[in-house]
Amino acid sequence: MTFRTLGLSNPILQALEEKGYSTPTEIQRKAIPAIVEGRDVIATAQTGTGKTAAFVLPILEALRGERKRRAKRFRALILVPTRELAMQVEENIQRYGKHLAVTSMSMVGGVDLEPQKQQLIEGVDIVVATPGRLLDLAHQRALYFDELQVVVLDEADRMLDMGFIDDLNKIIARLPAQRQSLLFSATLSSQVRSLAKSVIEDPFEVSI
Ligand code: AMP
Repeated sequence: MTFRTLGLSNPILQALEEKGYSTPTEIQRKAIPAIVEGRDVIATAQTGTGKTAAFVLPILEALRGERKRRAKRFRALILVPTRELAMQVEENIQRYGKHLAVTSMSMVGGVDLEPQKQQLIEGVDIVVATPGRLLDLAHQRALYFDELQVVVLDEADRMLDMGFIDDLNKIIARLPAQRQSLLFSATLSSQVRSLAKSVIEDPFEVSI
């Protein structure tokens, strides 16, 4: 199986080839076609399995068409537990999206708010955020969710371990009902399942 048969198109295939990735990993083979089809997905996969590309690649595929950006709006939101993970995910977006016009930013705590607000005003397609900082900016009316098409909860189990459940519920309540939702987690505990239920109605489940 190749990346092409998973439903990805040339600019993304070229970036993968330049990176030297010729074969999709198991989680990529299982998750990418369903995400490209627009389904909601719950995926159980550890770090190191290629799980980041499993959601980044189909999101880039969905957003690759040129579209006018509106200030303070974005089309994809990737929620992560830590600043470090936000940076890694954003690096993946830059790497696989290098031949596309898709833009991204990371929105994490511990750094000045102003540059993040400015980036939002200029317009961005994908936001990679930790929950607390995202809510701060939402409360300050620095961002709105009305153009959101897809949300990812990455490392959902770690987000719960770190006590983000209230923040996550507040964020989920603000998202448009019509959207695609993806949840990635190393484990599927009952807490993760119950979070998944609040985000996703009829998921396609994959595990490796
Ligand atoms: P992750 O599980 O997302 O942390 O990815 C683990 C590592 O695998 C990262 O260094 C990725 O760049 C790399 N990787 C992702 N997909 C592939 C692939 N299809 N072939 C080879 N390496 C990959």
